[in-house]
Amino acid sequence: MIVDGSGKTAFRGDVVIDGERIADVIPGATSTSAAPGDVDATGCVVTPGFIDSHSHSDAYLVLEPDAPSKLSQGITTEINGQCGGSVVPRYGEARLSGDWATLLGERLTWRSIAEYRAVLEAARPAINTVQFIGHNTLRSSVIGYAGVRATPATLKAMQDMLARELDDGGWGLTTGLIYQPGKYSDSAEVTALARTAAEHGGMYATHMRSEGDRILEAIDEVLDLVRATGIRAEISHLKTSGRRNWDKIDAVLEKMQESVDGGLLMGSDRYPFCAAGTDLDIVLPDWAQEGAAPAERERLADAATRERIAAEVDASGRDWSAVRIGGTWSDFTRPMSGRSIAEILANAKGFGLPPDITAGELVCRILEADRCLTGGFFFGMSEVNMRRILAFPWIVPGSDASLRAPWGPLGKDHPHPRAYGTMPQFFRYLTGRDAFADGERLSFGLEEAVARMTSVPAMRFGISGRGMLVRGAFADVAVWRVEDFRNVSTYDRPHAFCTGMKQVSVNGALAYSDGVFTHAGTGRFLGRR
Ligand SMILES: [Zn+2]
Repeated sequence: MIVDGSGKTAFRGDVVIDGERIADVIPGATSTSAAPGDVDATGCVVTPGFIDSHSHSDAYLVLEPDAPSKLSQGITTEINGQCGGSVVPRYGEARLSGDWATLLGERLTWRSIAEYRAVLEAARPAINTVQFIGHNTLRSSVIGYAGVRATPATLKAMQDMLARELDDGGWGLTTGLIYQPGKYSDSAEVTALARTAAEHGGMYATHMRSEGDRILEAIDEVLDLVRATGIRAEISHLKTSGRRNWDKIDAVLEKMQESVDGGLLMGSDRYPFCAAGTDLDIVLPDWAQEGAAPAERERLADAATRERIAAEVDASGRDWSAVRIGGTWSDFTRPMSGRSIAEILANAKGFGLPPDITAGELVCRILEADRCLTGGFFFGMSEVNMRRILAFPWIVPGSDASLRAPWGPLGKDHPHPRAYGTMPQFFRYLTGRDAFADGERLSFGLEEAVARMTSVPAMRFGISGRGMLVRGAFADVAVWRVEDFRNVSTYDRPHAFCTGMKQVSVNGALAYSDGVFTHAGTGRFLGRR
């Protein structure tokens, strides 16, 4: 049964692959031959490989080129470099996020996108990648991490560097305006950079300045930027963060729909889970986060500053049952992975902690042990709102995760289940195979759900020759059992491959077959020209 990605009704037939491309799609064919290389897809659907529209695998594609967590759910192309953080450019003070830098070590040899591309291609990744340039990485390459505005000279230097990276294969610009050092930029800086990106044919994707208290103002900032530059833009991981902002969903969706209708925005992406996954250090007071992990470590090493940090964390009034520990980096913290802060406090003795320890003190100890690299899951989203967001046709699936593997250097990590289960969970929610917590279900057809995982993002990002099973397209193909396609990764036990995915081919070569990674290494760095 062929679901070609266009949205049109599924049909029985054969998909003929010749080399890296689809030679033909023959409806009604009933080929029963068993020639070498034939795939018996009886009981399965044959669809285009999925596109992960919001991904963070830049560095890990070099470390674990099989991309196990992604390939196993049918993903054949990732859109990387999101939320303002990319592997390039790396000049000046720029350093990659702590986990990337720690695990890559000496393999971190590139500075420009051209150098990264060469390293990536030598690693022979299993899947295709589209690489965006992150504003935070770019800004730290030119200005560093200080909390200062750009000057005309530093802005010009950023524009020149961005232009070069885009001309050498970058797909566009992303921002992460809550993170260091992007949060120090004003709208004028971001708009000037977006103009450069537009002039060089690039797109824009943004993790906005606020996803909660000031989300409507943040969307307006994006719309102003688009009006000023004409850039093709999308908003990343649409959500209403924090319980007190859940009732803004009507205004948010109305504004988004209007912007899509008016041609200002392409849309948004969403992972089908209600916990955010990011670094634990975001629970620290703002001033204590400045300068990121290295500066945080220095502050924690100073007794008086540490005391002040712990006291302010305690006074923050945060719901500690809604914060779970994710990836950990020490023997002391490893047993805490997957547990909530409230749970750890309630069972302090079991974790070797004093019985009267406070949340602030606990957070300080965890961060100290992990050199401020601890991951966290934050349960602050409404599932009803998630259902309403997923219902819009301009929402595409984006894992917001880097690739993972149950083995090797990445196997010790404790990722968010979205890393392994975004595609099956998105599919099951959209088609009503899974209900939401309130018992409601969506009811999109198989074909419509598959289109959102394939052709819709391909068209949005301008990825030519992918996202549909048609003659002449690149043969990125997934073969899977609809009813068995299911996420089984959880916050407690995240390293679990989804079920139901039978075979995945990338550029015509079999990359994954019944749980086996073939190491074909046929993924490509996708350039815009
Ligand atoms: Zn983000």
